[in-house]
Amino acid sequence: MKPRTTGVSSTNAADNAARWRRDFPLLSTRSHGQPLAYLDNAATTQKPRQVIDAISRYYKTGNANVHRGSHDLSNRATTAFEQARSTLAQWLGIDNAATLIWTRGTSEAINLVAQSWGNTHIKPGDRILLLQSSHHANIVPWQLLAQRTGAVIDVIPLQDDNNVDLDAFRNLLQRMPKLVALSHVSNVLGTRYPIEQMCRDAKSAGARVLVDGAQALPHFDVDLRLIDCDFYAFSGHKLFGPTGIGGLWGRQDLLESMPPWQGGGEMIEHVSFTHTDFAGLPFKFEAGTPNIAGAMGLAAAIEYLKKDRAAQEAQEQMLMRHALSACHQVPGFEALPGGDQPVALFSFLLKGFHQQDIAHWLDQKGIAVRAGHHCAMPLMQSLGLPGTVRASFAFYNTLDEAERLAHALDELVCSQK
Ligand code: PLP
Repeated sequence: MKPRTTGVSSTNAADNAARWRRDFPLLSTRSHGQPLAYLDNAATTQKPRQVIDAISRYYKTGNANVHRGSHDLSNRATTAFEQARSTLAQWLGIDNAATLIWTRGTSEAINLVAQSWGNTHIKPGDRILLLQSSHHANIVPWQLLAQRTGAVIDVIPLQDDNNVDLDAFRNLLQRMPKLVALSHVSNVLGTRYPIEQMCRDAKSAGARVLVDGAQALPHFDVDLRLIDCDFYAFSGHKLFGPTGIGGLWGRQDLLESMPPWQGGGEMIEHVSFTHTDFAGLPFKFEAGTPNIAGAMGLAAAIEYLKKDRAAQEAQEQMLMRHALSACHQVPGFEALPGGDQPVALFSFLLKGFHQQDIAHWLDQKGIAVRAGHHCAMPLMQSLGLPGTVRASFAFYNTLDEAERLAHALDELVCSQK
Protein backbone atom coordinates (compact mmCIF):
# COMPACT_ATOMS: atom_id res chain seq x y z
CA MET A 1 0.00 0.00 0.00
CA LYS A 2 1.24 3.47 -0.78
CA PRO A 3 0.23 5.75 2.12
CA ARG A 4 -2.21 8.46 1.10
CA THR A 5 -0.68 11.89 0.60
CA THR A 6 -1.73 14.85 2.72
CA GLY A 7 -3.14 16.98 -0.06
CA VAL A 8 -0.41 19.62 0.44
CA SER A 9 0.01 21.62 -2.75
CA SER A 10 3.34 20.52 -4.04
CA THR A 11 4.07 22.70 -7.08
CA ASN A 12 6.08 25.47 -5.40
CA ALA A 13 7.76 23.05 -3.03
CA ALA A 14 8.90 20.86 -5.88
CA ASP A 15 10.18 23.86 -7.87
CA ASN A 16 12.13 25.18 -4.91
CA ALA A 17 13.54 21.79 -4.01
CA ALA A 18 14.62 21.18 -7.59
CA ARG A 19 16.41 24.55 -7.69
CA TRP A 20 18.15 24.01 -4.34
CA ARG A 21 18.99 20.40 -5.05
CA ARG A 22 20.98 21.37 -8.12
CA ASP A 23 23.43 23.10 -5.75
CA PHE A 24 24.14 19.88 -3.81
CA PRO A 25 26.08 17.38 -5.95
CA LEU A 26 25.82 14.56 -3.46
CA LEU A 27 22.03 14.55 -3.57
CA SER A 28 22.01 13.19 -7.10
CA THR A 29 24.03 10.11 -6.12
CA ARG A 30 22.53 6.68 -5.50
CA SER A 31 22.63 4.34 -2.55
CA HIS A 32 22.04 0.59 -2.89
CA GLY A 33 20.99 1.24 -6.46
CA GLN A 34 18.26 3.73 -5.48
CA PRO A 35 18.22 7.51 -5.62
CA LEU A 36 19.59 8.65 -2.27
CA ALA A 37 16.98 10.11 0.10
CA TYR A 38 19.16 11.82 2.68
CA LEU A 39 17.10 12.20 5.87
CA ASP A 40 20.02 12.31 8.30
CA ASN A 41 20.57 16.05 8.26
CA ALA A 42 20.71 16.39 12.05
CA ALA A 43 23.86 14.24 11.98
CA THR A 44 25.46 16.34 9.28
CA THR A 45 24.16 18.30 6.31
CA GLN A 46 25.22 18.05 2.69
CA LYS A 47 27.32 20.85 1.20
CA PRO A 48 26.36 23.11 -1.70
CA ARG A 49 28.87 23.54 -4.50
CA GLN A 50 29.31 27.16 -3.33
CA VAL A 51 30.94 25.74 -0.17
CA ILE A 52 32.92 23.12 -2.05
CA ASP A 53 34.09 25.80 -4.51
CA ALA A 54 35.14 28.19 -1.72
CA ILE A 55 37.31 25.50 -0.15
CA SER A 56 38.75 24.45 -3.49
CA ARG A 57 39.40 28.10 -4.50
CA TYR A 58 41.26 28.72 -1.27
CA TYR A 59 43.56 25.74 -1.85
CA LYS A 60 44.00 26.53 -5.54
CA THR A 61 44.64 30.24 -5.29
CA GLY A 62 44.81 31.44 -1.68
CA ASN A 63 46.56 28.86 0.48
CA ALA A 64 48.97 30.36 3.04
CA ASN A 65 49.17 30.49 6.81
CA VAL A 66 47.34 33.34 8.52
CA HIS A 67 48.39 36.04 10.97
CA ARG A 68 52.09 35.43 10.55
CA GLY A 69 52.80 36.36 6.98
CA SER A 70 55.39 38.63 5.55
CA HIS A 71 54.11 38.12 2.02
CA ASP A 72 51.13 39.02 -0.10
CA LEU A 73 49.57 35.53 -0.23
CA SER A 74 49.57 35.23 3.53
CA ASN A 75 48.14 38.70 3.97
CA ARG A 76 45.35 37.86 1.56
CA ALA A 77 44.63 34.59 3.39
CA THR A 78 44.50 36.50 6.69
CA THR A 79 42.08 39.05 5.30
CA ALA A 80 39.78 36.36 3.88
CA PHE A 81 39.97 34.32 7.11
CA GLU A 82 38.99 37.32 9.24
CA GLN A 83 36.32 38.28 6.72
CA ALA A 84 34.84 34.80 7.24
CA ARG A 85 34.71 35.48 10.98
CA SER A 86 32.94 38.79 10.33
CA THR A 87 30.40 37.08 8.05
CA LEU A 88 29.51 34.63 10.81
CA ALA A 89 29.46 37.34 13.46
CA GLN A 90 27.16 39.58 11.45
CA TRP A 91 24.82 36.69 10.71
CA LEU A 92 24.53 35.89 14.42
CA GLY A 93 24.02 39.52 15.48
CA ILE A 94 27.44 39.72 17.16
CA ASP A 95 28.70 43.31 17.30
CA ASN A 96 32.35 42.52 17.93
CA ALA A 97 33.72 39.71 15.74
CA ALA A 98 36.62 39.23 18.17
CA THR A 99 34.14 37.61 20.58
CA LEU A 100 33.58 34.78 18.09
CA ILE A 101 36.18 32.06 18.64
CA TRP A 102 36.75 29.43 15.96
CA THR A 103 36.53 25.89 17.29
CA ARG A 104 36.29 22.46 15.66
CA GLY A 105 32.57 22.46 16.47
CA THR A 106 30.04 22.53 19.28
CA SER A 107 31.80 19.86 21.35
CA GLU A 108 35.07 21.75 21.36
CA ALA A 109 33.32 25.05 22.10
CA ILE A 110 31.65 23.57 25.18
CA ASN A 111 34.89 21.93 26.30
CA LEU A 112 36.62 25.30 25.97
CA VAL A 113 34.14 26.89 28.38
CA ALA A 114 34.19 23.94 30.78
CA GLN A 115 37.99 24.00 30.92
CA SER A 116 38.68 27.71 30.87
CA TRP A 117 35.72 29.30 32.63
CA GLY A 118 34.77 26.18 34.57
CA ASN A 119 38.18 25.43 36.08
CA THR A 120 38.42 29.04 37.24
CA HIS A 121 34.94 29.60 38.63
CA ILE A 122 33.44 26.29 39.71
CA LYS A 123 34.17 25.30 43.31
CA PRO A 124 33.25 22.28 45.48
CA GLY A 125 29.51 22.15 46.12
CA ASP A 126 28.63 24.55 43.26
CA ARG A 127 25.67 23.45 41.18
CA ILE A 128 25.56 22.99 37.41
CA LEU A 129 22.11 22.74 35.84
CA LEU A 130 21.67 20.64 32.67
CA LEU A 131 18.70 19.73 30.48
CA GLN A 132 17.37 16.16 30.40
CA SER A 133 17.50 16.05 26.59
CA SER A 134 21.07 17.34 26.29
CA HIS A 135 23.45 15.88 23.73
CA HIS A 136 26.43 14.16 25.37
CA ALA A 137 28.54 17.13 24.20
CA ASN A 138 26.61 19.27 26.67
CA ILE A 139 26.78 16.72 29.50
CA VAL A 140 30.17 15.05 29.58
CA PRO A 141 32.35 18.22 29.69
CA TRP A 142 30.32 19.38 32.73
CA GLN A 143 30.53 15.97 34.34
CA LEU A 144 34.31 16.01 33.95
CA LEU A 145 34.33 19.52 35.41
CA ALA A 146 32.19 18.37 38.34
CA GLN A 147 34.61 15.49 38.94
CA ARG A 148 37.58 17.86 38.89
CA THR A 149 36.00 20.43 41.19
CA GLY A 150 33.47 18.63 43.41
CA ALA A 151 30.50 20.43 41.83
CA VAL A 152 27.00 18.89 41.76
CA ILE A 153 24.87 18.39 38.63
CA ASP A 154 21.09 18.92 38.63
CA VAL A 155 18.81 18.03 35.72
CA ILE A 156 15.83 19.95 34.31
CA PRO A 157 13.11 17.39 33.46
CA LEU A 158 10.78 17.37 30.45
CA GLN A 159 6.98 17.18 30.53
CA ASP A 160 5.04 14.31 28.95
CA ASP A 161 4.69 16.30 25.72
CA ASN A 162 8.50 16.68 25.75
CA ASN A 163 8.35 20.43 26.32
CA VAL A 164 10.69 21.52 29.08
CA ASP A 165 9.13 21.59 32.54
CA LEU A 166 9.48 25.30 33.26
CA ASP A 167 8.12 25.04 36.82
CA ALA A 168 10.73 22.43 37.68
CA PHE A 169 13.37 24.61 35.98
CA ARG A 170 12.44 27.61 38.12
CA ASN A 171 12.48 25.46 41.26
CA LEU A 172 15.94 24.19 40.38
CA LEU A 173 17.11 27.77 39.84
CA GLN A 174 16.36 28.38 43.53
CA ARG A 175 19.37 26.17 44.27
CA MET A 176 21.42 29.02 42.75
CA PRO A 177 23.38 27.11 40.07
CA LYS A 178 26.63 28.73 39.01
CA LEU A 179 26.11 27.53 35.46
CA VAL A 180 23.06 26.57 33.38
CA ALA A 181 23.85 24.71 30.13
CA LEU A 182 20.87 24.55 27.78
CA SER A 183 20.11 23.26 24.29
CA HIS A 184 18.38 25.62 21.90
CA VAL A 185 16.87 22.65 20.04
CA SER A 186 16.83 18.93 20.90
CA ASN A 187 18.65 16.77 18.36
CA VAL A 188 16.39 13.81 19.22
CA LEU A 189 12.94 15.38 19.56
CA GLY A 190 13.29 18.53 17.48
CA THR A 191 11.85 20.54 20.37
CA ARG A 192 12.64 24.23 20.20
CA TYR A 193 13.07 25.37 23.78
CA PRO A 194 11.91 28.83 24.97
CA ILE A 195 15.52 29.89 25.17
CA GLU A 196 14.99 33.64 25.57
CA GLN A 197 12.75 33.06 28.62
CA MET A 198 14.99 30.36 30.09
CA CYS A 199 18.10 32.52 29.74
CA ARG A 200 16.34 35.47 31.38
CA ASP A 201 15.24 33.25 34.28
CA ALA A 202 18.72 31.75 34.69
CA LYS A 203 20.41 35.15 34.59
CA SER A 204 17.95 36.53 37.17
CA ALA A 205 18.99 33.65 39.42
CA GLY A 206 22.61 34.76 39.05
CA ALA A 207 23.80 31.90 36.83
CA ARG A 208 26.08 31.97 33.82
CA VAL A 209 24.33 30.44 30.82
CA LEU A 210 25.68 28.45 27.89
CA VAL A 211 23.43 27.56 24.96
CA ASP A 212 24.17 24.67 22.59
CA GLY A 213 22.94 25.97 19.25
CA ALA A 214 24.07 23.00 17.13
CA GLN A 215 20.54 22.06 16.02
CA ALA A 216 19.05 25.55 15.99
CA LEU A 217 21.16 27.42 13.44
CA PRO A 218 20.51 24.90 10.63
CA HIS A 219 16.78 25.59 10.92
CA PHE A 220 16.17 29.23 11.82
CA ASP A 221 17.95 32.56 12.20
CA VAL A 222 19.33 33.37 15.62
CA ASP A 223 20.11 36.91 16.76
CA LEU A 224 22.34 36.66 19.80
CA ARG A 225 21.44 40.22 20.83
CA LEU A 226 17.99 38.85 21.71
CA ILE A 227 19.22 35.94 23.84
CA ASP A 228 20.58 36.80 27.26
CA CYS A 229 23.16 34.02 27.41
CA ASP A 230 26.89 34.18 28.14
CA PHE A 231 28.09 31.58 25.65
CA TYR A 232 26.62 30.17 22.43
CA ALA A 233 28.16 27.13 20.69
CA PHE A 234 27.61 25.76 17.17
CA SER A 235 28.99 23.44 14.45
CA GLY A 236 29.60 24.35 10.82
CA HIS A 237 28.95 20.89 9.40
CA LYS A 238 25.33 20.91 10.60
CA LEU A 239 24.95 24.25 8.85
CA PHE A 240 25.79 23.13 5.29
CA GLY A 241 29.44 24.04 5.93
CA PRO A 242 32.53 21.83 6.25
CA THR A 243 33.41 19.49 9.10
CA GLY A 244 36.06 20.53 11.63
CA ILE A 245 34.92 24.14 11.96
CA GLY A 246 32.45 25.74 14.36
CA GLY A 247 32.39 28.46 16.90
CA LEU A 248 31.90 29.79 20.36
CA TRP A 249 30.49 33.23 21.00
CA GLY A 250 31.10 34.60 24.49
CA ARG A 251 30.48 37.84 26.34
CA GLN A 252 33.52 40.01 25.86
CA ASP A 253 34.19 40.74 29.53
CA LEU A 254 33.93 37.05 30.37
CA LEU A 255 36.18 35.91 27.53
CA GLU A 256 38.72 38.56 28.46
CA SER A 257 38.80 37.37 32.06
CA MET A 258 39.15 33.68 31.11
CA PRO A 259 42.56 31.98 30.88
CA PRO A 260 43.62 30.19 27.67
CA TRP A 261 42.83 26.51 27.59
CA GLN A 262 45.35 25.39 24.99
CA GLY A 263 48.85 26.75 24.39
CA GLY A 264 50.83 27.14 21.20
CA GLY A 265 51.47 29.50 18.34
CA GLU A 266 49.05 32.27 17.43
CA MET A 267 47.65 32.67 20.98
CA ILE A 268 50.65 34.58 22.39
CA GLU A 269 51.97 38.12 22.45
CA HIS A 270 55.40 37.34 23.90
CA VAL A 271 57.08 34.14 25.15
CA SER A 272 60.18 33.52 27.24
CA PHE A 273 61.09 30.38 29.21
CA THR A 274 59.82 32.03 32.37
CA HIS A 275 56.72 33.87 31.23
CA THR A 276 54.17 34.19 28.42
CA ASP A 277 51.96 37.17 27.60
CA PHE A 278 48.85 36.02 25.80
CA ALA A 279 47.27 37.56 22.72
CA GLY A 280 43.93 39.36 22.95
CA LEU A 281 40.59 38.05 21.69
CA PRO A 282 39.90 35.94 19.78
CA PHE A 283 43.46 34.61 19.33
CA LYS A 284 43.99 33.79 23.00
CA PHE A 285 41.67 30.81 22.47
CA GLU A 286 42.94 29.76 19.05
CA ALA A 287 46.25 27.96 19.57
CA GLY A 288 47.97 26.67 16.44
CA THR A 289 47.17 26.98 12.76
CA PRO A 290 43.38 27.23 12.48
CA ASN A 291 41.07 25.51 10.01
CA ILE A 292 41.45 28.26 7.42
CA ALA A 293 39.73 26.47 4.56
CA GLY A 294 36.96 25.44 6.95
CA ALA A 295 36.29 29.04 7.94
CA MET A 296 36.09 30.06 4.28
CA GLY A 297 33.74 27.17 3.53
CA LEU A 298 31.51 28.02 6.47
CA ALA A 299 31.31 31.67 5.45
CA ALA A 300 30.27 30.50 1.96
CA ALA A 301 27.55 28.35 3.57
CA ILE A 302 26.21 31.36 5.45
CA GLU A 303 26.19 33.50 2.30
CA TYR A 304 24.27 30.69 0.62
CA LEU A 305 21.75 30.38 3.45
CA LYS A 306 21.13 34.11 3.68
CA LYS A 307 19.61 34.16 0.18
CA ASP A 308 16.50 32.02 0.72
CA ARG A 309 16.22 31.44 4.43
CA ALA A 310 12.49 32.09 4.95
CA ALA A 311 11.45 29.91 2.02
CA GLN A 312 13.80 27.16 3.14
CA GLU A 313 12.41 27.16 6.66
CA ALA A 314 8.85 26.96 5.35
CA GLN A 315 9.86 24.14 3.00
CA GLU A 316 11.40 22.05 5.79
CA GLN A 317 8.34 22.47 7.98
CA MET A 318 6.04 21.47 5.15
CA LEU A 319 8.19 18.40 4.43
CA MET A 320 8.13 17.31 8.05
CA ARG A 321 4.36 17.71 8.34
CA HIS A 322 3.90 15.78 5.11
CA ALA A 323 6.23 12.98 6.21
CA LEU A 324 4.57 12.72 9.61
CA SER A 325 1.11 12.67 8.13
CA ALA A 326 2.06 9.91 5.68
CA CYS A 327 3.94 7.89 8.30
CA HIS A 328 1.03 8.06 10.74
CA GLN A 329 -0.93 5.92 8.28
CA VAL A 330 1.55 3.07 8.73
CA PRO A 331 0.28 0.56 11.31
CA GLY A 332 2.39 0.64 14.49
CA PHE A 333 4.10 3.97 13.69
CA GLU A 334 4.56 6.23 16.68
CA ALA A 335 6.36 9.58 16.61
CA LEU A 336 7.75 10.95 19.86
CA PRO A 337 6.16 14.31 20.71
CA GLY A 338 8.35 17.20 19.57
CA GLY A 339 6.89 19.78 21.94
CA ASP A 340 5.91 23.23 20.71
CA GLN A 341 7.23 24.45 17.37
CA PRO A 342 9.60 21.57 16.64
CA VAL A 343 12.19 21.99 13.91
CA ALA A 344 12.08 19.66 10.91
CA LEU A 345 13.00 16.36 12.51
CA PHE A 346 11.21 13.61 14.38
CA SER A 347 12.07 10.47 16.28
CA PHE A 348 9.86 7.45 15.84
CA LEU A 349 9.22 3.84 16.78
CA LEU A 350 7.55 1.10 14.77
CA LYS A 351 5.78 -1.47 16.90
CA GLY A 352 7.48 -4.86 16.78
CA PHE A 353 10.67 -3.65 15.09
CA HIS A 354 14.06 -2.80 16.51
CA GLN A 355 15.29 0.67 15.56
CA GLN A 356 18.47 -0.68 13.97
CA ASP A 357 16.47 -3.11 11.82
CA ILE A 358 14.24 -0.26 10.65
CA ALA A 359 17.25 1.88 9.73
CA HIS A 360 18.82 -1.08 7.92
CA TRP A 361 15.62 -1.72 5.94
CA LEU A 362 15.38 1.97 5.00
CA ASP A 363 19.04 2.02 4.03
CA GLN A 364 18.43 -0.84 1.59
CA LYS A 365 15.78 1.39 -0.01
CA GLY A 366 18.25 4.26 -0.39
CA ILE A 367 16.82 6.19 2.59
CA ALA A 368 19.42 7.43 5.07
CA VAL A 369 18.18 7.94 8.65
CA ARG A 370 19.83 7.58 12.03
CA ALA A 371 18.98 4.93 14.62
CA GLY A 372 20.11 4.58 18.22
CA HIS A 373 20.43 6.85 21.23
CA HIS A 374 21.52 9.89 19.18
CA CYS A 375 24.19 10.81 21.76
CA ALA A 376 21.44 11.47 24.29
CA MET A 377 21.48 8.39 26.51
CA PRO A 378 20.10 10.19 29.59
CA LEU A 379 17.06 11.26 27.53
CA MET A 380 16.55 7.68 26.34
CA GLN A 381 16.80 6.46 29.93
CA SER A 382 14.12 8.93 31.03
CA LEU A 383 11.86 7.84 28.14
CA GLY A 384 12.49 4.16 28.94
CA LEU A 385 13.70 3.52 25.39
CA PRO A 386 16.90 1.92 24.12
CA GLY A 387 16.75 4.18 21.07
CA THR A 388 14.65 5.57 18.26
CA VAL A 389 14.84 6.10 14.53
CA ARG A 390 15.27 9.74 13.58
CA ALA A 391 14.29 11.33 10.28
CA SER A 392 15.72 14.82 9.93
CA PHE A 393 14.97 17.13 7.02
CA ALA A 394 16.68 19.96 5.21
CA PHE A 395 15.20 22.36 2.68
CA TYR A 396 16.63 20.28 -0.18
CA ASN A 397 14.55 17.23 0.66
CA THR A 398 11.46 16.51 -1.40
CA LEU A 399 7.85 15.44 -0.92
CA ASP A 400 8.73 12.32 -2.84
CA GLU A 401 11.43 11.47 -0.29
CA ALA A 402 8.98 12.05 2.56
CA GLU A 403 6.56 9.66 0.89
CA ARG A 404 9.28 7.12 0.17
CA LEU A 405 9.99 7.02 3.90
CA ALA A 406 6.36 6.25 4.74
CA HIS A 407 6.05 3.79 1.89
CA ALA A 408 9.19 1.89 2.94
CA LEU A 409 7.94 1.66 6.54
CA ASP A 410 4.62 0.35 5.29
CA GLU A 411 6.41 -2.27 3.19
CA LEU A 412 8.39 -3.34 6.24
CA VAL A 413 5.22 -3.81 8.28
CA CYS A 414 3.55 -5.71 5.41
CA SER A 415 6.60 -7.94 4.95
CA GLN A 416 6.10 -9.34 8.44
CA LYS A 417 2.41 -10.16 8.07
N1 PLP B 1 24.87 19.35 20.45
C1 PLP B 1 23.86 18.89 19.71
C2 PLP B 1 22.45 19.26 20.07
C3 PLP B 1 24.13 18.06 18.62
O1 PLP B 1 23.12 17.59 17.88
C4 PLP B 1 25.46 17.73 18.32
C5 PLP B 1 25.78 16.82 17.21
O2 PLP B 1 25.01 15.95 16.87
C6 PLP B 1 26.48 18.26 19.13
C7 PLP B 1 26.15 19.06 20.18
C8 PLP B 1 27.92 17.95 18.87
O3 PLP B 1 28.31 18.57 17.68
P1 PLP B 1 29.77 18.29 17.08
O4 PLP B 1 29.90 16.80 16.96
O5 PLP B 1 29.72 18.96 15.75
O6 PLP B 1 30.76 18.88 18.01
